[in-house]
Amino acid sequence: CNKGDSCMVENNPLNQVKNIIAVMSGKGGVGKSTISSLIACELKNRGYRVGLLDADITGPSIPRLFGMTNKSVEITEDGIYPPQSVTGVYVMSMNLLTEYEEQAVVWRGPLIAGAVKQFWTDVVWGDLDYLIVDMPPGTGDVPLTVMQSIPVTGIVMVSTPQNLVSMIVSKAVDMAKKMNVKVLGVIENMSYITCPECNKKIEVFGENAAQRAAEKIGIDLLGELPLDNDLMELSDEGRVELFGKMKEDFKSIVDEIINKI
Ligand code: ADP
Repeated sequence: CNKGDSCMVENNPLNQVKNIIAVMSGKGGVGKSTISSLIACELKNRGYRVGLLDADITGPSIPRLFGMTNKSVEITEDGIYPPQSVTGVYVMSMNLLTEYEEQAVVWRGPLIAGAVKQFWTDVVWGDLDYLIVDMPPGTGDVPLTVMQSIPVTGIVMVSTPQNLVSMIVSKAVDMAKKMNVKVLGVIENMSYITCPECNKKIEVFGENAAQRAAEKIGIDLLGELPLDNDLMELSDEGRVELFGKMKEDFKSIVDEIINKI
């Protein structure tokens, strides 16, 4: 496939996936995987059928967030059946295929790109309302493969305040535009903190900073999430699904995503 070309791979006949939302970030460590998981959980809570494809082949983190590192896939003649999380989100990740969690996948680009395609063509996702794709950070091979070969409905960008204005986020947005994939907007993560004494929102980076930054790079702000110790603890313990504290913030973000599709 040349740059800018579309080379969609064949759809698995067993799969009927209505919407594919790819979650991207300019760089790692901004909370992209955590937010991909929370979006999947909120959609599942609403009664939708949801899948979560961990497209980070060399640095997969989704099974750990859901406490699924000891689960594995079921391989049949029809294809690969992904396991379900506690609340029923279908999860596919390289970590569910390796023998042990720490096992490194030492592959070059083309092989990695092939694996990502197979996560779409060879996995039996079945009937899904939403498939969330957790991309690796940046604008490398895998995001390019996903945008070229999977019919992505829209992209959600995740950023922290420090790098929302940086070139790296704009590059990711530019890549999506070049590939003709709709950017639904950006979620600013670790945007503020809440005072534990008085519950007041402390906007460390200034009032409406996220809104202004999003405007500057020309994308919509889907919402802001605070830096939250409980979220960090629950995701580190593999219980991200139990996180309910930011429910209201998250509900409005997911409303925005659904409306913009
Ligand atoms: P990425 O996928 O962008 O590399 P992760 O989702 O793995 O980032 O998050 C990186 C770290 O930051 C994890 O330890 C995660 O628990 C933590 N984290 C993410 N979002 C928040 C938040 N809003 N508040 C506190 N910790 C967070």
